[in-house]
Amino acid sequence: MNKLTVRDISVLGKRVLVRVDFNVPLDAEQHIEDESRILGAMPTIRYLVENGAKIILCSHLGRPKGKVVPSMSLAPVAKRLQELIPDVKISFATDVIGEDAKAKVAALNNGEIVLLENLRFHAEEEKNDPEFAKALASYADIYVSDAFGTVHRSHASTEGVAHYLPAVAGFLIEKELSVMGKALANPERPFVAILGGKKVADKIGVITNLLKKCDTLLIGGAMSYTFYKAMGLSIGNSLLDDKSIDLAVQLMADAKARGVRLVLPIDCVVAKEFSADAEHMAVPYDAMPDGYEGLDIGPATSALYADIIKGAKTVVWNGPMGVFELEPYAAGTKAVAKACAECEGVTIIGGGDSASAVNQFGYADRIDHISTGGGASLEFLEGQVLPGVAALNAKPRKKLIAGNWKMNMTTSEAEALVSELIPLVKDADCDVVVCPPYVDIPVVAPMIKGTNIKLGAQNVHWAEKGAFTGEISACMLAELGVSHVIIGHSERRQYFGETDATVNARVKAALAAGLTPIVCVGETLEQREAGITDDLLAAQVNGAFDGLSMDDACRTVIAYEPIWAIGTGKTASDEEANRTIRVIRNTVEKLYGMDAADGLRILYGGSMNAKNAHGLKAMPQIDGGLIGGASLKPADFAKVVLD
Ligand code: ADP
Ligand code: MG
Repeated sequence: MNKLTVRDISVLGKRVLVRVDFNVPLDAEQHIEDESRILGAMPTIRYLVENGAKIILCSHLGRPKGKVVPSMSLAPVAKRLQELIPDVKISFATDVIGEDAKAKVAALNNGEIVLLENLRFHAEEEKNDPEFAKALASYADIYVSDAFGTVHRSHASTEGVAHYLPAVAGFLIEKELSVMGKALANPERPFVAILGGKKVADKIGVITNLLKKCDTLLIGGAMSYTFYKAMGLSIGNSLLDDKSIDLAVQLMADAKARGVRLVLPIDCVVAKEFSADAEHMAVPYDAMPDGYEGLDIGPATSALYADIIKGAKTVVWNGPMGVFELEPYAAGTKAVAKACAECEGVTIIGGGDSASAVNQFGYADRIDHISTGGGASLEFLEGQVLPGVAALNAKPRKKLIAGNWKMNMTTSEAEALVSELIPLVKDADCDVVVCPPYVDIPVVAPMIKGTNIKLGAQNVHWAEKGAFTGEISACMLAELGVSHVIIGHSERRQYFGETDATVNARVKAALAAGLTPIVCVGETLEQREAGITDDLLAAQVNGAFDGLSMDDACRTVIAYEPIWAIGTGKTASDEEANRTIRVIRNTVEKLYGMDAADGLRILYGGSMNAKNAHGLKAMPQIDGGLIGGASLKPADFAKVVLD
């Protein structure tokens, strides 16, 4: 996970606002019916206590809709929490941003806790009201997000407050994101996804996203019948999501095109009516009788699915196989749960009903990860950006400054430049790369040996060797000590017919030889004025990264060159450059997930120089620069590096 966590910061003596998920079910007497959410937050709370933080816990409970509803008070939770950690002083504030809360927060000593009253007693919470978020933030020096169940909501305590405080993840969020993130971004294969539940429409996002990643997709639950219908089979009185029939057709075609094995039940349990006492039987999938409805997968399907699941290295499961709440129709879900428990690969369950089914059948402790957030895990499986996670501070990326000398500097000039540059940048805390013309490389390489300067080339051919007169291959460069290579520079796109496809081929060749590609993307003035910048950049990134593995993608660097700002006197403002680079990062996120996007370095390449470097480098999205003209003067280049 590429977000900062509580472990990455010092909390001793700091006031730490922690958003937890204490949304526990209470009975009529305010007794907690299920305390697993409180237990889920304990690792973070214990860590903060042990490390001497002043802890301010906040949560919502139920749906009070912006009004004080006494039956939804968090007071019973405070009581239970005190029982769980008797030696820690815990106080309960009877309001959220009122006098009681303020006084109790002010009175905190190191290692003590105050729990604020239900956040949703204020309508401002769900509206993500900035003043309310600021008031919460004013209590603390640091914000810790640990309520995975609500990170898909953009509320004041889950998202808003992160704008006013350093924001890091707690252990629960860290675990959720790292387990599920790895499964989606870099799964061990075979990767089997299992989808069930009621409606295809509810799960369309999940199916579409998982289809891109998994090897096998097992379908169960009521959504199977929509697929059968799409195949022209009769489904009796089974639940049909008739608006999704076309979608089902589309999904089957997509699976085929992607080479994903999409498996539908081969038999089902059908019943005369939706009840536990109804007459029921198992029938083959293509013989569902009229007057009956399908309520579970059949025994043959259970055996087939169990077999497939047991051979998997990664399993992600969302949605029960049948109406598991009724005993006669629970067998399919139970069989799948058992197979997951017995599977030696990583098994992950997301979705509220699926999780409760696995708990009910007693397999929970043999599943690697049961997500604590129903809605949040679904959105995560859909590949959506979770606002409460996006708002957290990413681990800092090491900056990189690369000088592109272009067709300048004879060998003797190169020698002079580099010897002047070496002492100037020796204390740089970023990566420094110089990219001379090919002919200078053999001279510069021995000079920079043992220094902190790295060597880059300005282009590379995509073939390993052969009849390509005038070209240079990646292994030739690597052998000379080159570690980086610029690919798809705007001048190459403009004058030498470089396309996204040739860029992609060069990137692959560079990576195969162990070089770090610096892939250039950017829009011309006409494209900018036509308002197509964002789409164009996304297309260029998609093109350049086409077919790259996760590991290769993470090793790549992108440089954003607004072509309209090069040598035209026009410049992108710091904020504009930052925004556009955010767009590029979002594209990478869509391809490889948030972690990869958070770790990938994106440089700015539009006339960065000694004057403007400081402001640009200070922007959170900008991880350095690809420097043209200013890289030819050692003092200027050094200023860009050090500033
Ligand atoms: P999750 O909460 O795990 O995401 P869903 O909410 O999508 O799962 O679906 C769970 C519901 O689907 C359960 O209540 C279950 O009874 C119902 N269901 C599963 N199979 C069928 C079926 N064949 N007919 C009707 N309902 C079904
Ligand atoms: Mg559900």
